[in-house]
Amino acid sequence: MKKFVSLVLLPFIMITLSSCASEKRVSRQSFAFDTVINITADKKDDAVISGALALCPEFENIFSRTKEGSELYKINNGEITALSDDMRAALEFSAEFSRMTDGAFDFTLAPLTELWNVNKRTVPPTDEEIQNALNMTGYEKFSLEPFDTGETRLDLGGVAKGYIADKLGGYFKEKGVDNVIIDLGGNVLLLGKYSVGIRDPFNPEKLFAKITVEDKSAVTSGAYQRFFEYNGERYHHILDPKTGRCAKSGIASVTVISPSSMHADALSTAIFVLGERALSLCDNFPDTDALIITEEGEVITTDNFAEKYSLQLM
Ligand code: AMP
Ligand code: MG
Repeated sequence: MKKFVSLVLLPFIMITLSSCASEKRVSRQSFAFDTVINITADKKDDAVISGALALCPEFENIFSRTKEGSELYKINNGEITALSDDMRAALEFSAEFSRMTDGAFDFTLAPLTELWNVNKRTVPPTDEEIQNALNMTGYEKFSLEPFDTGETRLDLGGVAKGYIADKLGGYFKEKGVDNVIIDLGGNVLLLGKYSVGIRDPFNPEKLFAKITVEDKSAVTSGAYQRFFEYNGERYHHILDPKTGRCAKSGIASVTVISPSSMHADALSTAIFVLGERALSLCDNFPDTDALIITEEGEVITTDNFAEKYSLQLM
């Protein structure tokens, strides 16, 4: 583990991409999974971008927790026992990763995420409401074979965007496109080599750091992405499954770089919950690294991060 002390006290980061401004490039947007999807590639590959964007509603019909009639919606309403291949793959990984993190990552948190509903809430739930929801969560209560969700309901929000980014990346590769930016709201997959700027979201004109990423995904989890404030306290969207409350581990934001966007997605959520001691989780995945910005503005990374990604603190 390596520590850098940044000169700037910047609690949050975002990913921006700086090498896509070119006349030969085209960006197209869509909206799914409660997120703006932005795909950038060469103009000659415009039709492939459209093909990739057309896949997004299909994935939404599988992984959306809130969309009525989606596969996950049906699972959570006890209406399904036969799983699609995509759902099975995402659940297999989620179950394994939940075990690996001893439940710091937990894909059965729907009773809690529904309760907290940070996009709509203005006042935190009561202790009793939290306890009642907690009683209905727990990855150990879930069984894939035979399929049984027990009393839990599933929320794949910590991993689905990564899974989908990998699938979209695979689609571009299949079509022979090897220079593309797939951005699912902070969950970025890059084919080709790019300069990735890590920004201060309080001052979006200003970059916190720059790294160089090639043929990998960069995923950020941060307390700034979805939240409400009450009595001067921030209540954000990443929950500690042990307490049923917003995770507080001293991390303002964590960015994970990995060849697998699904790994990066799940890891970023888990490291955010567990804190800097969880950086070593990256060792379980090939060629995977992370950069944490603590609430004090300190930067902590996995070994050799600076050399590997040409880290420049701004
Ligand atoms: P991310 O933005 O990738 O860190 O994922 C946060 C989303 O994952 C939330 O909006 C929830 O849907 C879900 N989530 C929140 N806390 C956890 C957790 N501890 N484990 C797994 N998923 C979580
Ligand atoms: Mg995640």
